[in-house]
Amino acid sequence: MQNYPDVKLFIDGEWRDAMAGETIPVIDPATEETIGKIAHARHADLDLALAAADKGFKHWRDVSAYERSKIMRKAADLLRERVDAIAYMMTREQGKPLAQSKGEILAGAEVIEWFAEEARRTYGQIIPARSGRVAQMAIKVPVGPVAAFTPWNFPINQVVRKLSAALATGCSIIVKAPEETPASPAELIRAFADAGIPAGVINLVYGTPAEISEYLTAHPVIRKISFTGSTPVGKQLAALAGTHMKRATMELGGHAPVLVFDDADIEKAIAVSAPSKFRNAGQICVAPTRFLVQDAVADQFLDGFAEAARKIVVGNGLDPNSGMGPLANERRIPALEGFLQDAVAQGGRIVTGGKRIGNKGYFFEPTVIADVPITARVMNEEPFGPLAIVNRFSSFDDAVVEANRLPFGLAAYAFTRSVETAHALAAQVEAGMLTINHNGLALPEVPFGGIKDSGYGTEGGSEATEAYLETRFVTQMN
Ligand code: NAD
Repeated sequence: MQNYPDVKLFIDGEWRDAMAGETIPVIDPATEETIGKIAHARHADLDLALAAADKGFKHWRDVSAYERSKIMRKAADLLRERVDAIAYMMTREQGKPLAQSKGEILAGAEVIEWFAEEARRTYGQIIPARSGRVAQMAIKVPVGPVAAFTPWNFPINQVVRKLSAALATGCSIIVKAPEETPASPAELIRAFADAGIPAGVINLVYGTPAEISEYLTAHPVIRKISFTGSTPVGKQLAALAGTHMKRATMELGGHAPVLVFDDADIEKAIAVSAPSKFRNAGQICVAPTRFLVQDAVADQFLDGFAEAARKIVVGNGLDPNSGMGPLANERRIPALEGFLQDAVAQGGRIVTGGKRIGNKGYFFEPTVIADVPITARVMNEEPFGPLAIVNRFSSFDDAVVEANRLPFGLAAYAFTRSVETAHALAAQVEAGMLTINHNGLALPEVPFGGIKDSGYGTEGGSEATEAYLETRFVTQMN
């Protein structure tokens, strides 16, 4: 039977209520019903989690990489076995269609497996010494207990990268998962607990985000933080981490440009980028946002893209016919309406969509606006919703100037048949990730991260474990 559970804190291997008994309600964004509640941690609960993470680290760092890897693989298997029940919870709390929830969970299992493999490859170096009696070694050691803060747009996948990298390298972790979407990340933690992760190695809390992040980041037990969320919050946390000399990974906002050149396969550009734009109702940090289309193909692209947007069936994510669910939070509706009013007032034109759907549930039409001046707010701030801007450009240089105009540098997309153009884009577009003629982002084995105001550090690929390791130099004379 499908069921949405109340969610507890997970501290030192036990599911428990908050000490003060406080809870936070959970709302279904498709119906606005209260569907459950979560335990709200305060400092006393965090102190327990910190003590557990400290103890857990001292144990886990000495468990062999081989053994860690085995437990992680078992967690991935459990996640796959439980995919249907967890997908139901994710769709209820977050709104995305069931197929997307399942896809996220199965992708999470792949991330765990990737890091389970990487666990066994945290190689150091032997450095040639100046004397035959000296051995010089650079060894990799885990950084220590980690605090991770994750958002509601991908309730499992925002946790799983941080959690898997920490566990693979021998760190313990306290996860502050999203209060809006708490049950599915709790099921991720349960899979690890059931797979045999020792008590204290993983701890899960919910509460008031700023209260928890300030307390944990400053606490001496915590050696590293990792945050995914908005750029303003990321800057605050990075500053706090700097004050306390803590390592930090920051995966922040974006405003991805999509450069469509006149030599591109336009049908393919539409077929690839419309689903990328409207997946998860556009609430994706790497979502394509500013479509910049070369003059000769601009009308063709705009007509085809708007048609693809109109065809999307919006509805409750539990309905198998829904291609797009509601926004996850009520606050995104006025945010999107504000962006659109401002863009129209400045001369932008709504080609399709532009309105909330109904008055129950946070549904919003897939929206396309064209010819938006760069002074409009939406050309400068992340819309984080189902809103695409389609503008024109004439020359390669103009397109690159506009692509690089903003302080963000997360993802960028391009469509061209020219190898020369593709090479030039790779050299000149200021982004952490560039995907050309397809959407190839976010696989476990490839880097995932931004530059400029989009943050620092990568959460994918072989470099992702580095953020959880320290290099220790050992020199020994016999
Ligand atoms: P927000 O900035 O209020 O919150 C974003 C996330 O950060 C939430 O999960 C929230 O709980 C958490 N958060 C907020 N303040 C925090 C703090 N002081 N310490 C720790 N965590 C904190 O924004 P929102 O309204 O929830 O979402 C909209 C914006 O957030 C978007 O414009 C987007 O930039 C950003 N966002 C980015 C991602 C991403 O994948 N990079 C995901 C979700 C939201």
